[in-house]
Amino acid sequence: DSNRFQAIISHCKEYGFIFPSSEIYDGLQAVYDYGQWGAELKKNIRDQWWKSMTQMHDNIVGIDAAIFMHPTTWKASGHVDGFNDPMIDNKDSKKRYRVDHLIETHADAMRAQGKAAEADVLISEMEKLDAAGDLLGLKKLIDDYNIKCPISGTANWTDVRQFNLMFSTEFGSTVSENADENKVYLRPETAQGIFVNFLNVQKTGRMKIPFGIAQVGKAFRNEIVARQFIFRMREFEQMEMQFFVRPGTQQEWYEYWKEERLKWHLSFGNPASDYRFHDHTKLAFYADAACDIEYNFPMGFKELEGIHSRTNYDLTQHEKYSKKKLQYFDNEINPETGKPYGNYVPYVIETSIGLDRMFLSVICAAYDEEDLSTDGKQDSRVVLRFPAKLAPIKLAVFPLLKKDGLPEIARDIMAKYRGEFKCFYEEKDAIGKRYRRMDAIGVPFCVTIDHQTKEDNTVTIRYRDSMQQERIAIDQIGEIVGKAIK
Ligand code: ATP
Repeated sequence: DSNRFQAIISHCKEYGFIFPSSEIYDGLQAVYDYGQWGAELKKNIRDQWWKSMTQMHDNIVGIDAAIFMHPTTWKASGHVDGFNDPMIDNKDSKKRYRVDHLIETHADAMRAQGKAAEADVLISEMEKLDAAGDLLGLKKLIDDYNIKCPISGTANWTDVRQFNLMFSTEFGSTVSENADENKVYLRPETAQGIFVNFLNVQKTGRMKIPFGIAQVGKAFRNEIVARQFIFRMREFEQMEMQFFVRPGTQQEWYEYWKEERLKWHLSFGNPASDYRFHDHTKLAFYADAACDIEYNFPMGFKELEGIHSRTNYDLTQHEKYSKKKLQYFDNEINPETGKPYGNYVPYVIETSIGLDRMFLSVICAAYDEEDLSTDGKQDSRVVLRFPAKLAPIKLAVFPLLKKDGLPEIARDIMAKYRGEFKCFYEEKDAIGKRYRRMDAIGVPFCVTIDHQTKEDNTVTIRYRDSMQQERIAIDQIGEIVGKAIK
């Protein structure tokens, strides 16, 4: 619910996970900075994904393409002409709306007034006009239904315009007569960096179909309605993998990747009921099949990852625009013809997930306000129950007191383990307070050094989830933490 979501957003800021961008200047809409613990958590998620792709599959390699690409890339991919949202401005409130959101909000209000059938008609009209790119038709629809601006309450609208979601900037220092020649885009998805490098990687890596290319990197979209924290940002990170297959085998590979990706999500230990597939019924004209993996965010089930069977559309488009062959010679024998499959443009299954959105799902799943009240004594804690392998800090080391040689022993323990995993040292405040602070940033293990440590080399280990404590030998720390983060 929305209270829980607000609490998570505040917690992210208070404990150094996520700050609004350039906050001292009042922030920049839909842009966020990751703080000290957020950056660690994000890196751990990224590393898990990278490993699951490039280390756990012999036939997947990773690349790191530039954010800037030749401008023709985006003509070929369809983004220059097609990556649009129709929008409209209200002249009184000066507010800009995505037309589909504006109409959907109106339809919801109609439903609330018991006019569900009429609302359905409105939506289906809108979808038809939207698909046809009929901007005049969309404007007429808004007029016919007398749809008003939620802020100003008036229907004083501009025309409907297409709004391209790509950010652009200029390249180089000399401006040519034709401004378009200097125009470059900030990539709105990482996938195209993979498609244009398909042959480079296939040849130099001697890859045999089926094989995949993975990539993690920034993407930029000038989202009109940017809200819901890091769910929809203008600058975000994607983790994408294109899997190149023989034409005719795409259906089985699509099913394979659906299952494989769901397994990955479930490996972090959340209940299976928090994930579901949403199969697309309306497909892009080139697509074979498409679905989303949705996660049960505090605001409901929403897209977390997309899995798409894209046919040979992208590579064929790049062949057309670059006039270079982007084909593969398959020397395996086709049992039907007794001859090699030969040359073809491979088909592609794509898995595409937002790193930030994954971060949001991880923190939402982990966030817990636990009631610890006992008879007559009110108590509670906020604990982030991250899987240990994702936790920003794995081990906190506390000397009970700031004297008697205890800090020195704690420092020795830090020195012993910091090369293996992220450790954190703290000597301020009462021990209970220190534990609670570590709970709030999701540290799975804390060890405390006391006077007994000097005698028998044991420490108290305290477990985040159960809050149980036990006495262990210093030498056991590495094994306990190591096992948990594996
Ligand atoms: P949506 O419908 O939510 O706008 P989309 O279908 O346009 O997303 P894709 O183009 O398929 O998204 O991008 C793949 C993934 O990238 C999404 O599943 C999502 O996790 C992530 N993503 C897309 N846009 C954003 C954004 N503005 N901010 C954060 N993550 C995003």
